[in-house]
Amino acid sequence: MSEERQVSRRACWNCGASVDEHVRLCTACGTGISPMPEEPPSSRRASEWLLCASILFVGAGLLCLFSATRLLTAEGYVEEYGIDISGILRFCGALAIIFACCAFFAASMTYRRSSLSLILLAGILSMLGVGPMFLGSFMSLIGIVLVVIKRKELD
Ligand SMILES: [Zn+2]
Repeated sequence: MSEERQVSRRACWNCGASVDEHVRLCTACGTGISPMPEEPPSSRRASEWLLCASILFVGAGLLCLFSATRLLTAEGYVEEYGIDISGILRFCGALAIIFACCAFFAASMTYRRSSLSLILLAGILSMLGVGPMFLGSFMSLIGIVLVVIKRKELD
């Protein structure tokens, strides 16, 4: 009885005899039996939607980095008012780099189908990175929406 359970068996499509699932010919009637279909390899891979979300997060991260470099290299002295805001610009630039990292983190987590809460946290933080014309936030937002819609595929 216990041995019966260890070897998976299935019915021959031709004669209905119970055969070992690994045999290629039925032991009763000799008909060719195709091997058991393997588990589809795509089942562990991110679906197109999650891949899309991942790419959006990467895009948002790149836009954040773009903003960061502009902030870090901008002229801090405002002649009109005679004040120096370079400290603020550097601070915002550093923040933008952190938000970019969040976006890349969200992208990697999404690609690896990690936990939803981590992706949401990183994704929402990356939205603060804004990017030119709010494009970065917009891309992150779409990425988050895609992840939420496809949350069943996550671990
Ligand atoms: Zn058979």
